[in-house]
Amino acid sequence: MIKETTVGRLLAISVVVVLLGSCATIAKPLSSQTPGSSSTSASSASSTGGGVSGPLVGDPEFSISASPTAVSTQLSTTPLPASTPESSPAVDSIPVADATLDPAPPPVPAAAPVDCSIQKCVALTLDDGPSPLSTSFVDVLQSKGAPASFFVVANRIANYPGVLRRMVDGGQTVGSHSLAHAHPAQQSAEALLADNSRSDELITAETGLPVTLYRPPYGERSDAITAVSGQLGLAQILWNVDSLDWQSRDANKVVEQVMTTVRPGSIILTHDLYQSTLDAYPILIDRLREAGYVIVTIPELLGGASQAGVTYFSGLAPPA
Ligand SMILES: [Zn+2]
Repeated sequence: MIKETTVGRLLAISVVVVLLGSCATIAKPLSSQTPGSSSTSASSASSTGGGVSGPLVGDPEFSISASPTAVSTQLSTTPLPASTPESSPAVDSIPVADATLDPAPPPVPAAAPVDCSIQKCVALTLDDGPSPLSTSFVDVLQSKGAPASFFVVANRIANYPGVLRRMVDGGQTVGSHSLAHAHPAQQSAEALLADNSRSDELITAETGLPVTLYRPPYGERSDAITAVSGQLGLAQILWNVDSLDWQSRDANKVVEQVMTTVRPGSIILTHDLYQSTLDAYPILIDRLREAGYVIVTIPELLGGASQAGVTYFSGLAPPA
């Protein structure tokens, strides 16, 4: 049973999604952030009229060895900075560490319920793990009593046994970032269904929890992605603040990039791949809190009412 107030929140979120997906005037002009970018997706963006289906948006993950001449992909209908490397290294090219774990620290006591429709909430998200640094991120988050949402590449889970369980036990949220970080907009619906079904199976096998959140690699969107997400019960979680941690590899720049672009309801994109991002996290958490933000999980930011097949760039926020 859905409460009336929840329906209201859903409508409010949906309006935000539609507005962000269709109103180019909301977005900071991408041309100012990605000069010289390719416009290969811009025409298809206008052809789709925005909304939940559309072309590529920026997902800079796996840019570790990207060519300095990487081609950026623009999408004029979203607020996302776009920088998709022309050639992204394969998932398996990321070094795999011995995943022997230290004992997990005691869980942080549950905080009081948060109402992001009246409080200034933000959600930290971490993509592309598990990695050799993932447990360190969990430790930092736990030490700060701050949650985050990890979007994991499922075929890497076996390399890090116990890490997802530790995320969940520490109060973190785990969502899917696909099976192998393929470009989902280039996959057929059948391939997407197989990919995401397997990904969700692997995650659930580790966490014991159903998967309800999906971040399409590279932030790509398409009708097939939306259809398969709806079929599998997955909300598509994008972002409206890009830390650019993949680009700067500098903790101070990561903090400043977020603090100058964050607003109530923001979904913040970071990656649990980089030491510089790990170094930034305790500083960033402190700075966000000093600015009056409450750090929440994605489900909390969406009022516990995410909808399958819907794309979210941000969540609930107090009335302006
Ligand atoms: Zn990614």
